[in-house]
Amino acid sequence: MKNAERKRKILLLPGDGIGPEVFGPVMRILEHLVGWGVVSLEWEEGLIGGIATDRTGLPLPADTVEKADRSDAVLLGAVGGPKYDTLPYEKRPERALLGIREHLGAFANLRPARLFPELAGASTLKPEVISDLDLMVVRELTGGIYFGKPRGIVTEDGVRRGFNTESYSEPEIARIMRVAFDLARKRRKKVTSVDKANVLESSVLWREVANAIHKEYPDVELSHMYVDNAAMQLVRNPRQFDVLVTGNLFGDILSDEAAQLTGSIGMLASASIGGKTGLYEPIHGSAPDIAGKDIANPLAMILSLALLLRYSLDRDDLAGLLETAVRNVLKEGLRTTDIQGDGTKKIVGTREMGDHVFAEFKKVLEKK
Ligand code: NAD
Repeated sequence: MKNAERKRKILLLPGDGIGPEVFGPVMRILEHLVGWGVVSLEWEEGLIGGIATDRTGLPLPADTVEKADRSDAVLLGAVGGPKYDTLPYEKRPERALLGIREHLGAFANLRPARLFPELAGASTLKPEVISDLDLMVVRELTGGIYFGKPRGIVTEDGVRRGFNTESYSEPEIARIMRVAFDLARKRRKKVTSVDKANVLESSVLWREVANAIHKEYPDVELSHMYVDNAAMQLVRNPRQFDVLVTGNLFGDILSDEAAQLTGSIGMLASASIGGKTGLYEPIHGSAPDIAGKDIANPLAMILSLALLLRYSLDRDDLAGLLETAVRNVLKEGLRTTDIQGDGTKKIVGTREMGDHVFAEFKKVLEKK
């Protein structure tokens, strides 16, 4: 096992609800990696979301932003909860998510949707449609209609009107395309760019720039698909896709659809990269309905750590071992309640699932 050269720094933001619970196993894994000298790493903790609003009055305090700026990567649990739902927008925990993504310049959101064969029964699709599914949704994260201006709600002649602006510049499109093509090169070399070029000018430009950047990647296949068709194809024949790249709004929807193909929200990790500091988080929220009960699935959080190791610490070897550890635990038939089904031998809680993954990880690491 090679030693990492430079001491890396990461910021840990457990957040709200099940966030701190699913962080437990991750802490053990990190402590072990450092204790064994497998990675040269140090970390700080910070506040984000509801807990940050409670303690500082703001969901994303300046202290957290400063800590993120001096880190190579940020690992985030989840934010939000019913207690904060009536706060004004600027104080809402979700505001912190958009804020930190924007601040870090993490413009590319990677959502791997990979089906662990042991969980094929957990998907609502037929096993023959989803077996061996392994696709990656690349969503543009800091542009498009979520950030475009003008935006607002105005009253005109006594009638209220809400409006937003979908807007993408050439450089914004070019850089997300390069992320998609680079990823495809390490996978099955196929990129599908999703747009609505039959209706939207911003999509016409999106398609033109995609074609232009494609010239830099002649070894990768590029195809285009309208978003309505992509939504349909994802449930009809998802295995046709390798890397799907799209804008912020379409990506928000399609990445959740792709996630559902694999069965449980408790299994899915994400990475937001492109800036100096990468942001890694499970796709699930703070799950207030199960928080504090030791039943949340910690695997999405653990798999987020695997993505951090791969994309921010350049430790593909360790990421692979961690993914193997998760797979081995599933093979043994251990399941949290959200993924129970065929092949379940024992239902375990958050802590116990974490213990098993940790033990497996130690085992596979020692073999290396
Ligand atoms: P959610 O993802 O928190 O929960 C949806 C459902 O999935 C719930 O039934 C929950 O129990 C279940 N679930 C989620 N994660 C699970 C896990 N690890 N193991 C087992 N079951 C799991 O979404 P929601 O209920 O729409 O939102 C709850 C709060 O989280 C809201 O305040 C919302 O704004 C916030 N939220 C935060 C993020 C984030 O931090 N990235 C993302 C989505 C929602």
